[in-house]
Amino acid sequence: MTVHLHDPALPDARMHLVAPGSPAIGRIVSSESCIRGKSASFVRHISIDVSGTPLEGQCLAGQSFGVCVPGTDSKGRPHKVRLYSLASPSYGEDGNGRVISTTCKRSIEERTDEDNPARGDGHVLILGACSNWLSDLSVGAEVPVSGPNGKRFLLPVDPAAHDYLFVATGTGIAPFRGMLHELLVGPPAGTPARDRWTPCLSRIQLVMGAPYRTDLLYDPWLNELARRHPNFSYHPVISREPLPAPGHGPHVHHFIDARIGALRPMLDSPRCLIYACGLAGMQLGIFRTLATAGLGSGYLGVHDEIAAVDPADWTEEQIKRRVRPTHRCMLEVY
Ligand code: FAD
Ligand code: NAP
Repeated sequence: MTVHLHDPALPDARMHLVAPGSPAIGRIVSSESCIRGKSASFVRHISIDVSGTPLEGQCLAGQSFGVCVPGTDSKGRPHKVRLYSLASPSYGEDGNGRVISTTCKRSIEERTDEDNPARGDGHVLILGACSNWLSDLSVGAEVPVSGPNGKRFLLPVDPAAHDYLFVATGTGIAPFRGMLHELLVGPPAGTPARDRWTPCLSRIQLVMGAPYRTDLLYDPWLNELARRHPNFSYHPVISREPLPAPGHGPHVHHFIDARIGALRPMLDSPRCLIYACGLAGMQLGIFRTLATAGLGSGYLGVHDEIAAVDPADWTEEQIKRRVRPTHRCMLEVY
């Protein structure tokens, strides 16, 4: 990828300090629901003490870590490692890098059981192995962990040199919780990290997509952050609540499109970085919206093959194959 003048300088992230094959042992410090209201989804903010392991002090906001569920899967093989985004800032929940956290959604589905043809009628309750195991753990329980993972979805070395558009869907909010903590809240008083920290006064906009208002994650904390910091705006985008007219409610890119006039000065500035985390496919709408508004050049590399096509007419296939994010556009989607 070509490097440009306004590309952010990123820290050198440490990776793979602990392999999933020989995980380190962390311990649950807390596990609390972080959903706003009563909902069909269950999402917990889970904090894990990793002191004394190679992960201590080494996990940056935006990276992920592995959880290695003990035991074997239905085929008798050890469970595969599952990755979870860090929801903690780089100085950890405690300010000393000893306690990491994540935002874990229980995976719950009704479908055909692939492991058991006898239960193939399509309405067997499938509980995801790792998210449910992790969500069930009580304070003090042991968690085998690995990582950290990822080196691109990070805050820049000089946070004040940039403005930020953060776009999340569902549990994709996890890294932004850590990043916003780091940019606006800072380490607890009395920790060495506090002495090195200064609040970030850059413009920060968070667009957060959820099906229902009750599904919003960390919502009171985000509202309070926006109230205290005039440079930070929080925009929940709700997709499934009743609309004045029939049809599906907005997704995050519809919000960006509708507010493009207000967002343009920030997005047009070479200081601005875009981060998107959550559902695979969310980037397609964001790319199309940016390019249609004539704001794509700093964030997107467009292949010659579709350079002459109006971005409003780009197909999903064309975006997937022919549009690439630049260093100013960070994606973490799956
Ligand atoms: P699994 O057991 O892996 O099941 C997942 C799905 O597989 C089921 O829902 C079902 O569709 C299918 N399945 C499983 N068993 C069967 C069966 N017998 N028959 C039919 N179908 C079956 N998740 C978060 O909640 N928070 C995060 O912050 C987060 N961050 C991530 C970061 C990265 C970089 C990545 C790659 C993933 C992240 N994830 C996150 C997702 C996480 O890694 C897991 O994939 C997720 O928790 C589901 O894992 P599970 O073990 O609970 O489900
Ligand atoms: P969810 O609550 O089901 O949905 C979040 C919102 O996104 C809903 O409003 C949904 O609208 C909307 N949405 C659906 N498709 C979209 C699209 N193409 N573009 C924009 N918005 C879209 O989400 P969830 O269950 O928490 O899932 C979050 C996803 O993020 C999971 O796949 C999770 O694995 C992933 N995740 C990734 C990372 C990472 O890569 N580091 C970290 C954390 C989470 P509808 O009403 O239309 O459904």
